[in-house]
Amino acid sequence: MQQADMVLIGGGIAGLSLAARLARHGRVVVLEGESAPGYHASGRSVAFAHYGLGERIVRTLTALSLPDLAAHAVRHPALHIASAGQAAALDALEDVHRQFGSDCARIMPDEARALVPVLKPEACAAALLDHGSLKLDTNAMLQAHVADLRAHSGDLVCGARVSAIRRYGEVWRVTTSKGHFAAPIIVNAAGAWADEIARMAGVTPIGIEPRRRTVISFAAPEGEDVRAWPFTKTVGEGFYLLPEGRGQLLASSMDQTPSAPCDAASEELDIAIAADRVEQATTLAIRRIRHSWAGLRSFAPDELPVIGNAAGAPGFVWCAGQGGFGFQTAPALSRIAASAALGLPFPEDCAAAGLAPEMFSPARLGA
Ligand SMILES: Cc1cc2nc3c(=O)[nH]c(=O)nc-3n(C[C@H](O)[C@H](O)[C@H](O)COP(=O)(O)OP(=O)(O)OC[C@H]3O[C@@H](n4cnc5c(N)ncnc54)[C@H](O)[C@@H]3O)c2cc1C
Repeated sequence: MQQADMVLIGGGIAGLSLAARLARHGRVVVLEGESAPGYHASGRSVAFAHYGLGERIVRTLTALSLPDLAAHAVRHPALHIASAGQAAALDALEDVHRQFGSDCARIMPDEARALVPVLKPEACAAALLDHGSLKLDTNAMLQAHVADLRAHSGDLVCGARVSAIRRYGEVWRVTTSKGHFAAPIIVNAAGAWADEIARMAGVTPIGIEPRRRTVISFAAPEGEDVRAWPFTKTVGEGFYLLPEGRGQLLASSMDQTPSAPCDAASEELDIAIAADRVEQATTLAIRRIRHSWAGLRSFAPDELPVIGNAAGAPGFVWCAGQGGFGFQTAPALSRIAASAALGLPFPEDCAAAGLAPEMFSPARLGA
């Protein structure tokens, strides 16, 4: 039996960013079922930080996180495009950018097409260019948290799949394929499996819904260096498109198909839809999909993160529901989660930005 002060279940960005903070306050062990961290959602993102998703709370978390994200990111513009019928949605998105003080500008459609020359005129009747968005190095983020955890005497145990959780007196006992671990505090950062972990511990689930998202990769137009192309995203339904190196593009139709927790794989139909949406809106002809993948974005019923102590289960802390924004909100969310786990006051800057513990508490979901 390995004893710790805090055991975290899940070696993705949620668990690792929190573990690095908690390790300054006691002995921390992170249990990861796979043979390496970041195997599931955290290894499958497109690694971008922008204001084009979520609602006010998620965007506030993003704004609070951007300064810390800069350590493992480069500035890369985001171009939000609207068709003729989507002007109101683009106006609303521009307001959001202005509220958060983002360095953005409305640009003319021909200016947008100068940035992304393949865009068809009908796909881009109006455009918003955000200079404040970031291309993240998500692998560097994960590795930096692991290094930080270890530098503070914490441990990441991979291949430790949790199969049972019981509470004995003041202590949680966690059974894994790598032995038993015990701590008075356990954190559920198991992503798509968060409800499964709750059930093991006899804790009320929050109704987490994993949703599959597919990404395709294909060759850029012959001889075109696309590295300077912005991350290009339709307002509302459509697609996003972004460069990956000199001659490669990534795209997604922003699919979100409900799924059981699993090792998600891309499906033929989703690949075809992504390619079709790109071809409809651009002059690109996608002759061959070089590579595709899928990952699960996990949402609570209200699509907000779930951070806080479970009712009636002392020492059981939720850190789940990071949806499609787990990296871009990790710096702020991990501070909120650390304060919940340690029983410390809610972070002052988060409160000053209008956030409050109740917004994240599992109690709002009856858990
Ligand atoms: C296609 C795609 C694009 C995305 N793009 C972006 C983006 O541009 N920007 C952004 O901010 N976010 C993006 N996201 C979202 C982001 O990737 C997620 O929000 C984030 O990775 C969630 O992290 P997590 O740690 O909660 O989950 P995960 O990374 O899934 O980690 C949970 C871990 O728990 C482990 N686990 C589960 N059950 C057990 C068990 N019984 N025992 C031990 N371990 C267990 C799993 O093995 C897993 O490693 C994207 C996601 C996808 C799929």
